[in-house]
Order: sequence, then structure tokens, then C-alpha cells
Amino acid sequence: MALIVQKYGGSSVADAESIKRVAKRIVDTRRAGHDVVVAVSAMGDTTDELLDLAHEVAPIPAPRELDMLLSSGERISMALLAMAIHSMGFEARSFTGSQAGMITDATHGAARIVDVTPVRLREALDEGAIVIVAGFQGFNRDTRDITTLGRGGSDTTAVALAAALSADVCEIYSDVDGIFTADPRVVPKARKLGVVTSEEMLELAANGAKVLYIRAVEYARRHGVTIHARSSFSSAEGTLVLGPDARAERLAQGEHMEEPIVAGVATDLSQAKVTVVGVPDVPGKAAEIFTIVAKSGANVDMIVQNVSAAATGRTDISFTLPKSDAAAALRALAADQAEVGFEALLHDDQIGKLSVVGAGMRSHSGVSATLFDALSSAGINIEMISTSEIRISVVVRGSDVAAAARAVHTAYGLDGDDEAVVYAGSGR
Ligand code: ASP
Ligand code: MG
Repeated sequence: MALIVQKYGGSSVADAESIKRVAKRIVDTRRAGHDVVVAVSAMGDTTDELLDLAHEVAPIPAPRELDMLLSSGERISMALLAMAIHSMGFEARSFTGSQAGMITDATHGAARIVDVTPVRLREALDEGAIVIVAGFQGFNRDTRDITTLGRGGSDTTAVALAAALSADVCEIYSDVDGIFTADPRVVPKARKLGVVTSEEMLELAANGAKVLYIRAVEYARRHGVTIHARSSFSSAEGTLVLGPDARAERLAQGEHMEEPIVAGVATDLSQAKVTVVGVPDVPGKAAEIFTIVAKSGANVDMIVQNVSAAATGRTDISFTLPKSDAAAALRALAADQAEVGFEALLHDDQIGKLSVVGAGMRSHSGVSATLFDALSSAGINIEMISTSEIRISVVVRGSDVAAAARAVHTAYGLDGDDEAVVYAGSGR
């Protein structure tokens, strides 16, 4: 008998029929002899609808009240799911985040889990009940207020429950079949991965892959939780996201696990590029510029500095950041232009980022050459390059990203034999 944590995303519990379908799945797991703890998201687009409603009554809704409002979405789905399970003859009990002992810091709208004390969940499990927990929410001990974990936070709820209860696996159900070598809507020959390391998954999630939330993957990696990302609309196996220990254990048991040089290709159209033109090439200027940018609240990703022109002693510095952060960063830089002494600012929001990720890169040479070769054969110009130990990212024109992803996917031998079934799925 295992303890299994399951998370169902909003698209899996969008209406009464779907809730009954999910209830049946949960009951089947219970019938197989397992203890089941479920984290559930709000039905369908409930969270978006509540957000819209909040903005209709207040231009800037009070953060405490917004969390009270948004957390109600998951209360609806958890209660309905428990009722549906009841009517199938099984004992089920629903719990809010605070009843479940999900203790967070006090940051409304983006709270971090600091402790999980699942006393009531253990009691319910011991009494033979199926446990349903509202995802995405917690409780702060100092303010004694309800918090929410940020959009997509139910993934994190599930992983935190799995860690606190030492569950055998954390199954994350959505409307896509698992983690693919690329977004099948962009690369039709993308393949579903059987296994991916948590390290690779973190890089993929941080660089545009949307199936799993980065905070949940981070939490899983830190606490040694194995995630199984799969679809609630089929019974097919999904993708296992393995931490280092789980992977080593499987290898020790003689399981064959391929370590592809490149596990996947991620694309991201959500970034913009800012170029600070004519920066005096003297010590301290980069520090000045990025202090200003940081104070504006922008989250900088890639940075490139050109060699300075000998004639002028000036250089250009370009960086990328989320499109939504660009206006504030540009305003802040413009305000300090005279002091920093640069000549002009350029803003480009038509860029796209493509990243290839694979743990095998560490031990193989020529990985970047393959990437640049594929892009050049496809006639695609590279504007910026950055690398980590297991990732290479390039910035290209946004309109080139899809063609670039297909070319690169083929170049690394990732193409599947058949076209992937392209879902309208959101991965939620
Ligand atoms: N309902 C929340 C959202 O839509 C949390 C989640 O779905 O994970 O962001
Ligand atoms: Mg949702």
C-alpha cells in the first residue's frame, strides 16, 4: 500500500461531469489499496473570473481581501469533489489550506510555504478517509490571515503535502499527457518524455515550459519528491520528474535510463529586450545600470555587453526582462540618464527566446555548434546567447521562434516518428 498525492488542475474539474470523473479516478486509486490525498484547483476559469470581479469593484483590490476571495474558488471544488466521492460510497473529507496546516509567510498573492503541519490530514487518513485539500492557499501565523501562493500554486500545495506526508509519489493531473521534448503546438514532432530530471525540469520551466510550475519543481527537488505529470483525460503513463536520489536509486536497481544530450527545447515569447546605447566603458557603469533596473522591480534574465568602440570608449549593454517589467525599467533608466551618462535607450518587444536543456551537455562537446548550425541552416539570426551548465539559450526574432524550435528539435534527433496529438490543452 502506498500513499499517493494527486493534484487535479482547473481544467480537470471544470464542471459537475468532470468532478464525477475525477472522483471515480480517486476512488479507483483507493480501491487499489492506496491512501489518497488530493490537492484540487478551482473549477475551470474560476480564479480568472474572481479576479475580474475584484477589479470591477476596486481598481487595486486590497491584497488581504483578494486572497479571501480567490481562496474561495478552491473551497468550492474541494467540497464538490468530497461530495462526489461520498456518493460513490467512500469516505472523503475536505480541508482548507489552513485546516490542512499549510503555513506560509505573510505575502498576500505570492506566499511561500514555510511549514506544513498536516495533523488533521493524518487523523483523517488513519480513519480511512480520502483527504481532499484546497490547493493554492495557506495561512500565516502572525497575521492569522489566509494567503494564496500565486497563480498555478496548487502544484506547490500538492508537492508540499507529498513532502510533509512522505508520500510515495505526487501525481499532477492536467489536460496534457506529460512533459514533451517541446511544446507540441509549436513542434508537431515533439515526443513525450518518460523521465526527466528535476534539474532539467527546472531549466525547462524557467525558460518557458508551462506544464509544471517552477516553484513546485523547486520544492520537489529540495524535498526529494518524485512528480508524475500526467493527464486526467487518459490512463496513459505521463512523465516522471526525478530528483537526484530517486534517479540514482532507479539506476542502482538496474533500470536503464537514457540521458539524452538534449532533453527538450523550450520557447518563450514573454520577454522584451532593452539596449542601453553608448555607455561609458569605465568601471561601475554596469553596477549603476542594473541597480537602477533592480530598483524598478524588473527581473533581468540575459545580459550582453559589446566590446567598446575604440574611438569613443563607449559600449552598448543589452538585457532581456519580462515584457510586463519593461516600462518601469525604461522609465527608471531614463530618469537617471544624465547621471549614468549613456546616450540612448532602445526597447524591442518582438523577440523570442529558445533554450535547449539537457544534463548530458556537461559531458558532451559540440552541443552549441549543433544549435548554431541548425539555426544558420534555417536562416535564423541570433541576437543574444547565454548558457548555464545544462542549458543554451538564444534570443531571435519572435516571428522566427517556431521555425527555430522545429529546426533545433530535428538537429538534436528529438523528432518522434508520428506527429504528436496536438491538444488545445493548457497544462492546467
Ligand atoms: N486556481 C489557481 C489558479 O488558477 C491555482 C491553480 O490553479 O493552481 O492560478
Ligand atoms: Mg486554475
